[in-house]
Formats: sequence, structure tokens, C-alpha cells
Amino acid sequence: MNSSDNASWVRCYLGLGSNLATELGLPVEHIQHALTILGEHTQIRDLQASSFYASKPMGPQDQPDFINAVVGFETILAPLELLDVCQHLEVEAKRARLRHWGERSLDVDILLYGQAQINESRLIIPHAGISDRNFVLVPLREIAPVLMIAGKPIVAYPLSADWTDLTQLNIDHTNSHNDKVL
Ligand code: AMP
Repeated sequence: MNSSDNASWVRCYLGLGSNLATELGLPVEHIQHALTILGEHTQIRDLQASSFYASKPMGPQDQPDFINAVVGFETILAPLELLDVCQHLEVEAKRARLRHWGERSLDVDILLYGQAQINESRLIIPHAGISDRNFVLVPLREIAPVLMIAGKPIVAYPLSADWTDLTQLNIDHTNSHNDKVL
């Protein structure tokens, strides 16, 4: 028996997005790499990733479409520790941000941390963008169809009527380095 057997595991969901290639890879590869790192984390288990989706940018339209995915897992990390992990993933992807609502090599948001409601300077949970973004709600519904968000079932959150901005992609979650992980 190891120390984590007694710890309390909390189911969490992250939203990942990328629309900027760097010397480290294409947007899809940034997300695949982040999934690999999360899957190998010793304080994370039972990881389940959604399909990858292409979505139109919310901000300036003269930028590439985003690749988005949602990942769910159990963790014994505290909320701010999990935020540190997310921000480390962004730094590792050499997060470049050229302008507000603009291109980025990797964005990782904590959508939900169990049923916690957190309102701190560094961390707001549930994430404010869940309820009005198809590129979050659709992949989240895909992996967690009976999820409760702030006391309401996920199916009670209406999807935007405009589906022209979202396409489900036929891409493997894994890359050549992480076949064993997912
Ligand atoms: P952005 O990269 O634009 O999504 O925002 C990054 C900032 O949002 C960071 O300073 C975080 O501390 C803050 N933040 C607040 N709530 C969250 C959350 N649920 N997930 C990720 N970052 C968050």
C-alpha cells in the first residue's frame, strides 16, 4: 500500500487548445504531448480524452482554426497544484501569445475540479467559459454525458445553435511516443 491509497482522488476536467505551430510541433502535437505528460503524472489516474475538434477562433478571425480537446482524470493534486501542472504544460509548449484572444501554442484551463466552486485570484472554478463554448461543452459531453456542473446536469447547458464553427476530427489522441499511455 502506498501513500496515495489513502488520499482522496477527485475527478477533474481540463480544456486544451492550440492553434500555433512552434519548433516543437503542430497544434495537434502540442495537445498530444500534453496528454502524454498528464497520463504519466504519478498523481493522476484514469485519464480519458475526448476526440480532437477544430474550432473557429473566438477572437480575431485572421488566425488559424484551433484544435481543442477535453481530458478527464482523477487526481490527488490540490487545485492550485493542478493549475501549476497546467501552466507548466503551457510553458513547456513554449507558450507564445501574440495578441489578446489570439494565436497560442497551448492553452490549458481547469474546467472542473470535482464539484468544487473556487473563486481565488489565480483560479476560478468552474471555468467561466464552460457554458457558452461548443468547443468545451461538446467534447465534455462526449466523455462525461451525465456530469453535473454547478449542480446542473451537463445536458441542461444549451449548445450554441451555430455549429459551423466546430468539426470533430479523426485524429488519434496519441503520438508515436505515447502509444502505451492512452
Ligand atoms: P488564459 O490563459 O487566458 O486562459 O488565462 C490564464 C490566467 O487565468 C492565469 O493567470 C490563471 O491563473 C487564470 N485562471 C483563473 N481560473 C483558471 C482556470 N480555471 N484554469 C486556468 N487558468 C485560470
